[in-house]
Amino acid sequence: MTVRLGCIADDFTGATDLANNLVRAGMRVIQLIDVPRGGAEQPLDADAVVIALKSRTTPASDAVAASLRALEWMRSAGTEQIYFKYCSTFDSTRAGNIGPVTEALMDALGTDFTVATPAFPDNGRTVFKGHLFVGDVLLGESGMRHHPLTPMTDSNLVSVLGAQTKRPVGLVDHTVVAAGAEEIRRRVEALRAEGVGAAIVDAVSNDDLVRLGAAVKGLPLVTAGSGLAIGLPANWGFAPSPAAARLPAPGGRRAVISGSVSGATNGQVREFVRAGRPAFSVDPLRIAAGDDVAGQALAFAAAHLAEGPVLVYSTETPDAVKDVQGRLGAAEAGELVEQTLAQVARGLMELGVRQLVVAGGETSGAVVRALGITGLRIGPQIAPGVPWCAAALPGGDTLHITLKSGNFGGPGFFTTSFDRLDGETA
Ligand code: ADP
Repeated sequence: MTVRLGCIADDFTGATDLANNLVRAGMRVIQLIDVPRGGAEQPLDADAVVIALKSRTTPASDAVAASLRALEWMRSAGTEQIYFKYCSTFDSTRAGNIGPVTEALMDALGTDFTVATPAFPDNGRTVFKGHLFVGDVLLGESGMRHHPLTPMTDSNLVSVLGAQTKRPVGLVDHTVVAAGAEEIRRRVEALRAEGVGAAIVDAVSNDDLVRLGAAVKGLPLVTAGSGLAIGLPANWGFAPSPAAARLPAPGGRRAVISGSVSGATNGQVREFVRAGRPAFSVDPLRIAAGDDVAGQALAFAAAHLAEGPVLVYSTETPDAVKDVQGRLGAAEAGELVEQTLAQVARGLMELGVRQLVVAGGETSGAVVRALGITGLRIGPQIAPGVPWCAAALPGGDTLHITLKSGNFGGPGFFTTSFDRLDGETA
């Protein structure tokens, strides 16, 4: 099988979001956690590969180096087009990293032009006249204004990207996009002739992204949020099909690990406990006091796994988390909880768990590392942006796992996700 599309994502949950969109548009996708050592094994059983980096907020030179390593790996896999994926709110600092990574990839690929659009209308991210809207407000007037690491105060992406690149940045505006792929291509050629290296492209609907997708067929590099993924697979003849999301049959016990402290996850934990299902609360203060909290959680799990999914959670309300952070320090508390939940994850594998829901982005990273998982085959979507995945455990067994970033999923997510897996393979 030929790997058509090679994607380089600047963070982990963003990578999953992109992979999920590609699967829904008919491609079979493997997501890799960081760049594998050595070249790609051949043949790779996927139409697209997404490499998840952690390069959104690292120094620009590190982000460039990691992205170039990912590109080299993609080339060894024989990919035909590269997709640099960033956040749909164009999260970046004044120095980058979107601009520097884009230019480094362009140089390495020997291409003089690329497009840039974070638009994802299904999630309320639209671009009009080069300005990014988050829901009904401009980016610079949205909550992103106050983001601790990447505050976005300028909504005009032509100027945001222009400040990060040496190459001139242009605009393919909505009049052109609405007129179709041919017109977009004509505009691209005109911009190229003017010496423009990257163009922000307007998109306010999925149809716009589909038109753009067709127009960028054959372009060595595209850069976007996860939205453009809906418009690319058709270029190779892919169409939505359940076969793209097929995973091996699930087996083993079921568990949920939740280290997310976000609002949606608090609701999911409450719902699970309310339904009378087995749940073990991990208290950071007891970990700090030296109790074997992971051991206790695993003993609890061992006693209850036969009843159905067991939940191990550190999830607490914002006030309780603040209190713990005040006593232990925020970073220290996070680290203690992540280490404990990672240990719990390893123990759950020994107890025969082979279907695992993990809630929280940082928590997911810690669990995936602890389990030695290096790649995920992306399966069917459970909730918008959250797919089931299959991973090979170091011993050779298959683990079905879903990594839910904080605010995703409805209140019943911790049980309905397993029903979805049953339904898929029934
Ligand atoms: P989310 O962003 O959805 O809250 P993450 O897993 O990305 O989920 O981040 C949550 C962070 O909070 C992690 O570092 C986790 O270890 C930490 N954490 C989890 N539970 C607690 C708690 N009860 N007290 C303090 N920190 C916690």
